[in-house]
Amino acid sequence: MQTWQWPARRAPGGRRRVRGACFVLAATLAALSAAAADGSGGAMFGFGAGQAARQQALEQRFDAGLSPADLGAWLKRLSSEANHVGSPHDKANAEFVRELFRQWGWDAQIEVFEVLYPTLRQHTLELVAPTRFVATLTEPPVTGDATSARTDGLPPYNVYGADGDVTAELVYLNYGMPEDYQALARRGIDVRGKIVITRYGVGWRGLKPRLAQEHGAIGCIIYSDPHDDGYSPGDVYPNGGWRPARGVQRGSVLDLTTYPGDPLTPGVGATKNARRLGISQAKTILKIPVIPISWADAQPLLAALAGPVAPKKWRGALPITYHLGPGPARVHLSISSDWGLKPLYDVIARIRGSESPEEWVVRGNHRDAWVFGAWDPLSGQVAMLAEAKAIGELVKSGWRPRRTLVYASWDGEEPGLLGSTEWAEQHATELQRKAVLYVNSDTNARGFLAPQGSHALQHLLNDVASTVRDPETGVSAQARLRARMLVQGYEKDPADTRDVAEEKARNAKLAAVGGDLPIGALGSGSDYTAFLQHLGLTTLSIEYQGEEDQAGVYHSIYDSFDHYVRFGDPGFAYGVVEAQTVGHVVLRMADADVLPLQFGDFAATVDDYVGQLHQLLEEKRGKAAELERLLDANAFALAADPTRVVLAPEREAAVPQVNLAPLDAVVARLRTCAQAYDAAYAKLAAGASSLDGAHRRQLNRLLQGMEQKLTDPRGLPRRDWFRHFIYAPGVLTGYGVKTLPAVREAIEASRWGEAEEYATITARVLSAYCDGIDRATVLLNGGT
Ligand SMILES: [Zn+2]
Repeated sequence: MQTWQWPARRAPGGRRRVRGACFVLAATLAALSAAAADGSGGAMFGFGAGQAARQQALEQRFDAGLSPADLGAWLKRLSSEANHVGSPHDKANAEFVRELFRQWGWDAQIEVFEVLYPTLRQHTLELVAPTRFVATLTEPPVTGDATSARTDGLPPYNVYGADGDVTAELVYLNYGMPEDYQALARRGIDVRGKIVITRYGVGWRGLKPRLAQEHGAIGCIIYSDPHDDGYSPGDVYPNGGWRPARGVQRGSVLDLTTYPGDPLTPGVGATKNARRLGISQAKTILKIPVIPISWADAQPLLAALAGPVAPKKWRGALPITYHLGPGPARVHLSISSDWGLKPLYDVIARIRGSESPEEWVVRGNHRDAWVFGAWDPLSGQVAMLAEAKAIGELVKSGWRPRRTLVYASWDGEEPGLLGSTEWAEQHATELQRKAVLYVNSDTNARGFLAPQGSHALQHLLNDVASTVRDPETGVSAQARLRARMLVQGYEKDPADTRDVAEEKARNAKLAAVGGDLPIGALGSGSDYTAFLQHLGLTTLSIEYQGEEDQAGVYHSIYDSFDHYVRFGDPGFAYGVVEAQTVGHVVLRMADADVLPLQFGDFAATVDDYVGQLHQLLEEKRGKAAELERLLDANAFALAADPTRVVLAPEREAAVPQVNLAPLDAVVARLRTCAQAYDAAYAKLAAGASSLDGAHRRQLNRLLQGMEQKLTDPRGLPRRDWFRHFIYAPGVLTGYGVKTLPAVREAIEASRWGEAEEYATITARVLSAYCDGIDRATVLLNGGT
């Protein structure tokens, strides 16, 4: 299929947009993009012909305001000192960013929240038997990395782990995921009363100590194995970019799958006088101590373990034999923190909309880091600042956005999405009434566009991505991503988990068709969470990422300016292209005649998700039956080495019939109603119908709140803060998404009654969404 082309027309010189109540949109919408319905060429999705040309000219002026030198200078300054919550430089950066916004003509303020933020006071980790070794728990300076010699950063720790002083035998637990406990149990080992050592990777870090706690462990160590992000995948810093022997991954272990944000103020903004839970009442804080360490500190502990040799897949890249334990290694772990409230400084900057100031386009990126944070998050922060500066220049030249722009520099993301969540909770009602989009970024680097978010925006995102040029190959960001999807589908990576392999295969299939590329679904792990999953706002995450990104220095002292300019984005070309991509999305959402949502993409995606649920059920049924047969035949005992203990897996109950018919029915309806809307939109775009101002405003009001129809105030089972019934972070995946989460997680956990109950509730939610689309179609057709 043809890719999108710029219209040959130029913007009509000096014509101002018609303001006021009742202008007829027939003329302006006459050439609305035919791409609305079929993804083929046309003008610009969401705009009439005159507007499209003007928008194109606006984007060119916007692009001219982006300078890589700006990005480099801001990044150097922002990452020059440690930027964690409560640090002097975090506050100084907030003030600097506010001043920049003000210089550029934005109305910018700092909004302060007060959150529980435990700051490490002391920690000790030592091997006390059979030999003695004291872990260094420090990251030494590295040649050529200027900030690594600074001492203002926090030492490596896992925020929201418990205080504690424990001594116990050690058990090695691989990645510390549920299947690792099953494998351990089959070898007759349990972790009750033990301290476990797990390695970073596969699942989200916070799950590791939480599962350890649930299984009765009294302490948890998480280390970075060189197999995962050290000398195995590449040369280590400073020769290459990967994690050196004593590099440590800090990070939060807050249970953000229950609720993110300040643990003491769930659901409300953590203002000075907010009602707070006691620390012991906060469900998201761990009860056992947990500590992150480097492989240099882990190796003596692992080498001191005896017991069975670890299964093949559990062995990392250290030059030792990996044993499971328990013991004879015994370790002593002691941690205490200062559990005080700390201030958060969110910088909020606005440009008021000229025509629909009550509609907001919200854009955010966090500013706080674990230490210096040149990659995470400041690479994304400076791209956002570049957008704000370029927009400021447009405003100075006389342009005003139709809708209000709200730019946010979030604080406190690293400990648990604190700044964005508290702000979203504090302004929930207003945001739900006004926001037409929340667009997020975080770490950005050279590489491929990685779009995720609400699938009704898939077409808009593609429209923009097909016109932004990839700096290294010269093709569009969309064309480069398409090539990558196709190649990934061809070269299957044996290291991929099943979910990832299946997603790559699906993407390759869709990419081969031509037209729009699929965007990913959002789980958690950055500041979009509260906006999408709590408030139900239409949301996008837009970043560029390399193949393996900054894995090697992630959350360490070596995530620095010097590292970023060598391995992240030398020359800041991808910072500029990030600013272009997000900036064009923001400008189009801000100025669109009709908000550019395309429901057919959403319907096709949900159809696919429902198909996955059926497949999941069938696979579980087949697996359970097969296990039953093998157990009956005593196959596990006969297939094992009799000199080693490897028990058979536990018996599973047979999988009953689970009625997913309500979901099947609603998906069929969703396909139909989405098609009707997209067809009506195409008719308007082709000039075959028209829309007056009153209808257009009503339609935009309706489209503004559409994503909220995918939420239910009762929320997901056992975690009612999460209200979106299509996308959620998985309880057992952490950052990783579960789509149709209430049903999928019930099936995965064999809670059959719950699966059926939530199939009905999810179908009801989708049905309300269809009602909204039907109403939008009526308005689009000029009815009432
Ligand atoms: Zn980040």
